[in-house]
Amino acid sequence: MSDTPPVIEIRNLHKAYGALEVIKGVDIAARKGDVVSLIGSSGSGKSTILRCANLLEDSQQGDILFKGEPVRWKGAGLNRHPADPRQVLRIRTNLSMVFQQFNLWAHLTILQNVMEAPVTVLGRDRHEAEGAARKYLHKVGIGDKCDVYPAQLSGGQQQRAAIARALCMEPEALLFDEPTSALDPELEQEVIRVIKDLATEGRTMMIVTHDMRMAADVSDHVVFLHQGLIEEQGPPDALFGRPKSERLQQFLSSTN
Ligand code: ADP
Ligand code: MG
Repeated sequence: MSDTPPVIEIRNLHKAYGALEVIKGVDIAARKGDVVSLIGSSGSGKSTILRCANLLEDSQQGDILFKGEPVRWKGAGLNRHPADPRQVLRIRTNLSMVFQQFNLWAHLTILQNVMEAPVTVLGRDRHEAEGAARKYLHKVGIGDKCDVYPAQLSGGQQQRAAIARALCMEPEALLFDEPTSALDPELEQEVIRVIKDLATEGRTMMIVTHDMRMAADVSDHVVFLHQGLIEEQGPPDALFGRPKSERLQQFLSSTN
């Protein structure tokens, strides 16, 4: 279905923090059902791209399109901002983000954490939101943890709760920023299993990860970034099995 526009498309993205240009002209697209992974050294710009994509960060140049609809901007350069707060809200709630540090609210139970945004941001009926929250918590394997607080859960369980929270927004795509980096190795696997299930279901996802095995297992397309530019990209078997650029070869040998 190449005639339907990608769920998320980034064209010629440029982003600076003050005088420091960190994204220097990047194009990335994820079509419905695609899993796109972003890999690269620390500081190469992976998180910045995700944050620009769901408009947590402004960018100076380039287009960001959600299902073919371009973000409308006002101003230019370092003064460029999205022009329409309602468009920002719609795009941000449709590209649900999962962070390295989970970002659960400590004073809310797990169930409250998951149903909070659907009720307060999307205006969903409380009862319906609660039903959906319970369904997604069950789906990620912690249906029995509804009434506890985040501090009572392991890191892996907290991250699965954060994934349930993202799913409860019923987004068009999920954006993961190093979802397993804060976890002990034995807890990483339970989160990877959930991400694999989501990939199998045909969810559209963009995943920043340091975990090359997960990237190889779940991705349709892998993008290797170096200093704010795409150095190499392709299907995982090519990128990991036959890396062309010396930088990618070096990067892959350093991560083994
Ligand atoms: P990655 O996620 O690949 O590690 P980032 O996107 O976090 O890389 O960072 C890319 C570059 O932007 C780095 O040089 C980093 O120091 C810089 N950077 C990130 N966030 C900020 C910020 N809020 N202010 C200034 N510089 C930043
Ligand atoms: Mg990062």
